[in-house]
Amino acid sequence: MSKKTKLQAPTGMHDILPEDQKYYKRIYDVVSDIADFYGFSKIDTPIVEDLELFSKGIGASTDVIKKEMYTLKTKGGDLLGLRPEWTTPIVRSYIQNGMQSLPQPLKLWYFGPCYRYERPQADRYRQFWQFGFEVFGEQSSVIDAQVIQIFYNILKELKLKDLMIEINSIGDSNCRPYYKKLLSNYLKSRESSLCVDCKRRIKENVLRILDCKEEKCQPIKTEAPQILDHLCEECHSHFKEVLEFLDEIEVPYTLNPYLVRGLDYYTKTVFEMFFESDNEVKGLPAGRRALAGGGRYDKLVKLIGGKDVPACGAAAGVERIISLMKAQGIEGAKDPEIQIFLAQLGGLAKRKSLSLLEDFRKSKIRVGESFGRDSLKAQLNRADKLGAKLTLILGQKEALDGVVIIRNMKTGNQETVKLDKAVSAVKAKLKK
Ligand code: AMP
Repeated sequence: MSKKTKLQAPTGMHDILPEDQKYYKRIYDVVSDIADFYGFSKIDTPIVEDLELFSKGIGASTDVIKKEMYTLKTKGGDLLGLRPEWTTPIVRSYIQNGMQSLPQPLKLWYFGPCYRYERPQADRYRQFWQFGFEVFGEQSSVIDAQVIQIFYNILKELKLKDLMIEINSIGDSNCRPYYKKLLSNYLKSRESSLCVDCKRRIKENVLRILDCKEEKCQPIKTEAPQILDHLCEECHSHFKEVLEFLDEIEVPYTLNPYLVRGLDYYTKTVFEMFFESDNEVKGLPAGRRALAGGGRYDKLVKLIGGKDVPACGAAAGVERIISLMKAQGIEGAKDPEIQIFLAQLGGLAKRKSLSLLEDFRKSKIRVGESFGRDSLKAQLNRADKLGAKLTLILGQKEALDGVVIIRNMKTGNQETVKLDKAVSAVKAKLKK
């Protein structure tokens, strides 16, 4: 590389700068509060896994595996993949760590980065953060509804507006094979009018055709047989119950018979949450963007080598939520407010200030300071700006006498106290 080349973050990846951390924090705080309330435990997995785990779990013919995986070979010759999503690694961990033998349902949540080699565009990155919830060992439809409710509650708690939920059932191993056959027969009869990708999908991943956004495939999709008309008895009643639960808890939804999701492991319920707007909102183009998605995956644990354990979960995209928060004027987490400011003048005072600062930290009093500045006026201005209630002034004379001046920033009143009494005096004044 020439000396002049500027080093940049990899394409589609970005730094999370200090000014954006407050959004991540706000989302994290809301998600972890809700996770606690609903009894979910947090889990972290390595950002890389055996490549085989992903191809087995997500499906070798899916776009995620075929086009979007970041892979690497270790010096020892292991083939690893950067996680494109969290569900398969969590299932691996659930099996590996004996969580199948713990009391079920077992509920886990996560928050962290994922990697997909996609074409970068607005709101589509190659490294992006997801949070998500997974429930293992419960096949009741109430769990599907609860997972949807949890995501809806999080987005509502963040005060996001114009949200939509779409839901569908894609059946299970009883009814889906028949439906897939029906669908591919229908599509084969229209093959010449399909887009190039869909022509390939007929053989590889026929359900994904329902999800195709290409203009030329739309009329063909509209006439296609719909899975909801071909669900087996069990899937049909499961889906009906999920909708009844959602009605009961007043979570709004629309049925979308074309919703299939990109990964192979789903069974029965699938859903997505969107933000939708007819107009541009503060830089966000009109249209819809997916904020979260998930569903039931009753066969995945077994597929990856565990017991026959039903499961259900979903994931949300943190950057998408943040850009919506910004567009809708929603703030991130607030910086902790300082209570007092410590101003110092002169070498000795600076030294004493350092240890005084430690006394306040141990007493959990938040202190602002500007040790790099030597002008008292500049320090008092800074104290004002930070909203300090009190400013402690430690000049050369005070430092020599072992005292400090406490100034009430509102009234301008000042009082001199001994240095070793500074913390208790401040505490008393803050209480008033
Ligand atoms: P998925 O499992 O692909 O539906 O992903 C769940 C959520 O993650 C989506 O609804 C998006 O909000 C977010 N997401 C997925 N892919 C990306 C990406 N490349 N960049 C940013 N966010 C993404």
